[in-house]
Formats: sequence, C-alpha cells, structure tokens
Amino acid sequence: MRKDFLVFGAPVIGEEEIAEVIATLRSGWIGTGPRVQEFERRFAAVVGAKYAVALNSCTAGLHLSLKVLGVGPGDEVITTPLTWCATANVVVHVGARPVFVDVDRATGNILPDQVEAAITPRTKAIMPVHFAGRACDMDAIMDIARRHGLKVVEDAAHAIEATWKGRKVGSIGHCTAFSFYANKNITTAEGGMVTTDDETLAERMRILSLHGVSADAWRRFRPDGPAHVEVIEPGFKYNMTDIQAALGLRQLDKLHEHHERRERLWRLYDEALAGLPLRLPAPPEPDCCHARHLYTVLVDASRARLDRDSLREALRARNIGTGVHYVALHLHRYYRESLGLRRGMFPNAEYISDHTLSLPLTAGMTERDAQDVVNALREALA
Ligand SMILES: *Cc1c(COP(=O)(O)O)cnc(C)c1O
Repeated sequence: MRKDFLVFGAPVIGEEEIAEVIATLRSGWIGTGPRVQEFERRFAAVVGAKYAVALNSCTAGLHLSLKVLGVGPGDEVITTPLTWCATANVVVHVGARPVFVDVDRATGNILPDQVEAAITPRTKAIMPVHFAGRACDMDAIMDIARRHGLKVVEDAAHAIEATWKGRKVGSIGHCTAFSFYANKNITTAEGGMVTTDDETLAERMRILSLHGVSADAWRRFRPDGPAHVEVIEPGFKYNMTDIQAALGLRQLDKLHEHHERRERLWRLYDEALAGLPLRLPAPPEPDCCHARHLYTVLVDASRARLDRDSLREALRARNIGTGVHYVALHLHRYYRESLGLRRGMFPNAEYISDHTLSLPLTAGMTERDAQDVVNALREALA
C-alpha cells in the first residue's frame, strides 16, 4: 500500500511561481496592478477572447456576468443541477430564479433540448457548465439563445483548455467565467477571470469589481491618475491582487505542459481501468478538446458489488483521496425548499450524483501515483 496519502486535487506550484510572488512582494505593488493587467492580456489571448477581467473568484465572474447582462428580479436562468453551488447561488444573488434541467448521463453536460423545453417568457439567460472539462454543445446552446433572445453565461471553472468544434471556450458565449481555485487547472490560490468580446460589458464588470468607482486603484494612485474618483454604481470587492496574478502568470506558462501531463494520466487510467466493473468517462466528441479536469467514474453496486461511498472509503483506507462532483443541487436543502424540488425530477443528474467518483488527476502526479490509484481500485473491487 502507498505510504503517504495521495491528496485529491493538490496544486502544482513550482519555483517559478514562488519567485514571481517574491518579486511581487518586493516590487512595492501587491494590490491590483501591472501583473493583473499582464495576466488579463495573456489570458484573453489564450482563450481567444477580446477582453478578460481578473477577479478574486469564478463565482464573482458568474455574478458580475449576470449583473451586467441585466439579469434580475423576476427573471429565470436555465442551468444544470450537476455543478458546484456557486453557479446557482449567483442567480439567487441577482434576484432571479434558477431553473434546473437534466444532463446527459454519459457526459454530465446540460441537454440542449431540455434547455429549450424549459424556456418561458421570463427566461433571460442560459448558464451551461462544461462538466469535468468537456465543452457543452455550444452550437446548439448558442442557436437556442439566438432564436429566443437569451444571454449565455458559461461556467468554465473546469475548462480553460476546452474547445467545442475548434472554438475555444471563453470566446463563444456572451460571458465566460473561469476559476483559479486551488484545485483547478491553473491556480492563483483563490481567483477567477471573466472573458467577453463586448467592451461595454468588460468595462462595467471591471468597474463593478472594485466598488463601482470610476477609476481602478492602479490608475488612481499613479502620478498621472485622476485627483478624485466617483461611485458610478454600487459595486463589489471582487478585484484580483498582483500577488495572485504573479501565481497566475507563471501557471499560465505551464498550461499546455500540465494539460498534456493530465492527458497522459487520463490514458493510463483509461487503459488500466478498462477491465474493472466501473463506467469510465466517455471519449471526447470529435473536433473538441477536453480540458481533462476531472476523471470521473460511475460506481454501480449492481456491477461493482459495493456502492460509491463504500468504494470511496476503501480507497481512503488505501491512502487515495477522491472527490464527488457533484451532489446534484436540487437535492440540497436550500434548493429543495426554496424551489420546491425533489428527487425524481432530474434522473440523469441524480444517477451521476449517486454514483460518481472523481479519481486524483493533477499534473503533479507521477505514473506511479496513478498506478497506486489503479491498484487500490483493483483491490477494493476484487
Ligand atoms: C470551482 C467552481 C466554481 C467556483 O469557483 P471559485 O473560483 O471557487 O469561485 C464554480 N463552478 C464550478 C463548476 C466549479 O467547479
């Protein structure tokens, strides 16, 4: 058995990140400044968007997107129950109502025909989540949005490297939010980015991210900065710091290399787990790049002879950390009670919610680590 515990989703921080953070601390500017600007410029180029606004979380990006797209009280936003709670929480925060629709059982992504069926006169936006790093069918979703005059806010927390039919996630919907939380494909400890091709939206999100004042802190304190600033609209405290951007810049340098590394581990899992009584992730769709964020297997006790939670416990006992993505949101107390939802409404999301298990997958893992996961699974399922 392996000696040390394999932590699920451990970040991969190198000397380059450490040196950049130290240089930032020594530079005299640790708040929102030149490194944030540089990170935004480079990130926009990576995902093929015109504008990128760096924030302190993906949640902030989702919230600001809904806000600047005019989603508010009385509106409905169609989204997936198979996501982190942030996706639906921000809908509640702008005063709108989340409307969940079911996902594809094989991919975990929202079903476009269900989205279309859920549209009412109050529907204002669609929030697809690119589950585990697999892009949703963005041709179908953008087509529905165009025909019904809806906005599309993509939750791309898992999907920096993802493409849909050759188009990069981050350049498709009206706004796209990315996460740099500690266990995401790149990390700034906490952080996020929202991208858009609309200059007006980008500028308003930038202003709203820093109290809603007319000039950001960096410009404000520069020698040529304005003498006074004015509140244009009551904003939030969502800005990213240069210390975070220092991490982000050096992580971005490694984006491709880390993706390839996870790609290799993914293939190792695919091959080594093929004979086990588990359902493995579906292959990527043609002409699409999968961001390889989460390797999720489905554990059905009728095949595996033990259920997901027992398998999870058996792996933990063998020093392997795993994750569950996700307990479907309509099964959580707040959403059950506030929206009158119950088990039975979204069978595919529920099936995944009850049976899914995420295996460790980060660029910091060795082949040996992945082999330890495979061996532990073989033992536990024997
Ligand atoms: C991580 C995550 C978020 C939230 O990201 P933060 O940067 O922590 O705000 C939102 N949606 C999904 C699907 C996520 O995995």
